[in-house]
Amino acid sequence: MSVEQLIQRGGVSTVEAVCNKTAIDLAGEMKCSFPAFNGNRLNLEKHVLKSLAEKDDFDGFITYIHQPRKHVESFIKEEVKKYIFTSHKDKARDLLKKNVEDMKQHVSLALFTATEKVKTQRGDTDMWLEEVTSSLRDELTFDAICSQNFRDINSFEFLKEEIEKGLEPIMEDINNLSLNEMNEFRQKPDQILIDQLCRCCWVKCPFCAAVCTNTMEDHSDADHSVPFHRSTAINGVHYRDTDLLSVEFCTTDVASDQSFYPDSQSDEKIPYKRYRTAGPRFANWRITPDDSNLTYWKWFVCQFQKQLEDHYELKFQGRGEIPSEWRKYSKEEAIKSLDEMYKL
Ligand SMILES: [Zn+2]
Ligand SMILES: [Zn+2]
Repeated sequence: MSVEQLIQRGGVSTVEAVCNKTAIDLAGEMKCSFPAFNGNRLNLEKHVLKSLAEKDDFDGFITYIHQPRKHVESFIKEEVKKYIFTSHKDKARDLLKKNVEDMKQHVSLALFTATEKVKTQRGDTDMWLEEVTSSLRDELTFDAICSQNFRDINSFEFLKEEIEKGLEPIMEDINNLSLNEMNEFRQKPDQILIDQLCRCCWVKCPFCAAVCTNTMEDHSDADHSVPFHRSTAINGVHYRDTDLLSVEFCTTDVASDQSFYPDSQSDEKIPYKRYRTAGPRFANWRITPDDSNLTYWKWFVCQFQKQLEDHYELKFQGRGEIPSEWRKYSKEEAIKSLDEMYKL
């Protein structure tokens, strides 16, 4: 292996180390200062709902309702992309530059230290390489350092200079790397944030499909719960043998004297008040009777009435008529209700 090859091999991992570090830094930065990511789970939820409303994005809503995790992951990806490539482009670039500088210093210092040590101990190039590789293990992989290939190189001073010289253009390359190319490496800022923010419970309310907000992935010691349920029509719940959507919020249903069919294939009816006895999907949900229904979901049902009807091939009619009171809310009020209600 020539010194050149050595540098090339080392270089790739240097680029990777700098990029990985930058990805971790960017994710950390966003976790601290980006409004959607710097709070608790409800805060993230609030921003997801805000963004859906602002975009009037019905398909997004449907993904969010049926595959909430998938939607939240794409929300995170999109926001990270905007942050790095648009709103905080300069900051991201500065961070990359800083990490290149740090890496240069780190490598220089390691080379210098190894050289000094080997000189004092009268070591050879084998020893020198061992020193260098052990202190730069994570940054430079000199590929199993086949030292026999260096037998012809007697001066580690020469090696040191060659490596430093060879690293210069590599560092230059990293500096000129587009932030886009950074994404080819193992650590990606969006994936880091997804791993941090999505490791939680994703079980949906059996009635309205609202997602449990517990921060533990598996919380068998506590019931599933969510501070705000929704109109069950959002989940396509309808009256049996009709095409009429059930517009009530499940928090209202569980206080009523009505019954429901937990299984569409069976005739077994369960009173709402005893919903927990309706099977495993229901048993571990704590749904507290409540009539402080979130304006946001009332607005949503009215705003997307037609699309919901088409999507489920059901109607808001008769028993499933939308209460006229729901129609008075504007999008702004809907979004504002998120701010008020999610102040937890
Ligand atoms: Zn519910
Ligand atoms: Zn849960």
